[in-house]
Amino acid sequence: WPQFLLSLVLVGLTAFSFVLLFRSLIQQRKLTKIKNDFISNITHELKTPIATVSVAIEALRNFDALQDPEKTKEYLAISSNELQRLSFLVDKVLKLSMFEKHQVELKEEAVDLAVLVKEVVNSMKLQFEKYRAKVNVQLQGYQFAISADRLHITSVLFNLLDNALKYSKENPSIHVELKEETEQIFLLVTDNGIGIAPEYHKKIFDKFFRVPSGDTHNVKGYGLGLSYVAYVIQRHDGSIEVESQPGIGSRFIIKLPAIS
Ligand code: ADP
Repeated sequence: WPQFLLSLVLVGLTAFSFVLLFRSLIQQRKLTKIKNDFISNITHELKTPIATVSVAIEALRNFDALQDPEKTKEYLAISSNELQRLSFLVDKVLKLSMFEKHQVELKEEAVDLAVLVKEVVNSMKLQFEKYRAKVNVQLQGYQFAISADRLHITSVLFNLLDNALKYSKENPSIHVELKEETEQIFLLVTDNGIGIAPEYHKKIFDKFFRVPSGDTHNVKGYGLGLSYVAYVIQRHDGSIEVESQPGIGSRFIIKLPAIS
């Protein structure tokens, strides 16, 4: 009996380790696929703006720019837009990899979130106009000071508002709310966009994750924005979560410690 029991336990353990090994292999394969997809996507995304700018510059060199100021302006505008896109992408990838390696030191200072929110909303005016989006900012309370790295918190806001636009439907409406609670500041960004199914509410904060339907509505992206946002908020001792329903909209809720 004891020998039989021992062999049973051994067989069980072996089977269990096989299951574990198999699961880790599957996980590794999934990760490799995500990485490969990411590399091929990003290579494509990097190549397109570079090619466009090269063509525009070549065209400018080939005709006498002074002869056709309108065309010159158009080519310069295209180049500038493409370069902006490129720099935005490179910036995102660099920031995230630096955060991961803990190479980013936060330069904390007292930041008034109410002022910052208004600044970011103002700086995105053209983007809101492009999507014909309505935006309103609501403050509940008086004190919205946090200790934060101004640049990174600005990027957080930018990423959330940019997503609210990218994943919008007709008549986009975005609501930004700041609430002062005991020792905490709540920042809520609500949109009436395409929404996110419950099974993805946690995953969207993972690196490279995009909701599968993301591609069908032709939105470009790498699934990096929200993982960067989550890292920044975590480094500020805060938290982030999402409430969302497909077809209705999404609300991102950030809590940060207030300066007392
Ligand atoms: P990206 O936008 O580059 O794909 P993010 O990390 O910012 O990367 O977002 C991850 C995914 O979460 C997106 O691909 C999208 O599917 C979903 N998502 C993010 N924000 C919203 C939003 N406001 N409304 C609907 N879906 C969103």
